[in-house]
Amino acid sequence: PNVIETTNISKVYRMGTEEIHALRSVSIQIARGEYVAFMGPSGSGKSTLMNIVGCLDTPSGGQYILNGQDVSRMSDNQLAEVRNKEIGFVFQSFNLLPRASALDNVALPLIYAGLSKRERSERALESLRSVGLADRASHKPNELSGGQRQRVAIARALVNNPSVLLADEPTGALDSKTSHEIMDLFEALYAKGNTIIMVTHEEDIARFAHRVVRLRDGLVESDELNRQLAMSN
Ligand code: ADP
Ligand code: ADP
Repeated sequence: PNVIETTNISKVYRMGTEEIHALRSVSIQIARGEYVAFMGPSGSGKSTLMNIVGCLDTPSGGQYILNGQDVSRMSDNQLAEVRNKEIGFVFQSFNLLPRASALDNVALPLIYAGLSKRERSERALESLRSVGLADRASHKPNELSGGQRQRVAIARALVNNPSVLLADEPTGALDSKTSHEIMDLFEALYAKGNTIIMVTHEEDIARFAHRVVRLRDGLVESDELNRQLAMSN
């Protein structure tokens, strides 16, 4: 089944009398368990598409079905609820709370799930274990390396078992060795059945995904399985 189905979605930003067509007509289907990169140069519409797919914004036209639910016409409150349940976000800048331990950072999204403190800690520790950081649970972000911080952020994104892991330039703040470690982790998460979408303008990072959707001027320029990967497998 498809987790994500967009049909002819468009997005128009109005700036005074000017209209900016950030997305023109984008139709994409993503099945459960796929690992997809959204690629494209600056201004091609990646952030706009990510914001819509991640339920941070709604399209101006067209339809977006997430896990069988039409989210294209939802109110902000409904959208927030769907977002918290279905989407795990990872950002370039990690966005961790500096004074909280790795465990507390990861447990944060569970506060809304109505679990006891003990259940939250257990689930957070399990999530840290899945990114190989169980032994850093009590460390604060400034006691961790950049790659470890991003792994904490990934553990936080996954702690609610979201339908989609949505990563916006996840390696943008990391050196190339650490970036590759994060790509190894994504590969392991993919192997476990997670659905992953990564937004990047870096060719070297997009090639780790199994499918690459290229945007240009608000349109899908190409949508292909990663041939290099298919050949190496
Ligand atoms: P990318 O992420 O690929 O750089 P964006 O989705 O950020 O592309 O932008 C696509 C186009 O829409 C660009 O021309 C950008 O300037 C414009 N745009 C993006 N967000 C806004 C906004 N909030 N208001 C007005 N224009 C915007
Ligand atoms: P990225 O580096 O991910 O492509 P951008 O620099 O395109 O991000 O955009 C960063 C933020 O600013 C986004 O939330 C986008 O919606 C907003 N934005 C982009 N272009 C414009 C614009 N021309 N006017 C207002 N907001 C914009």
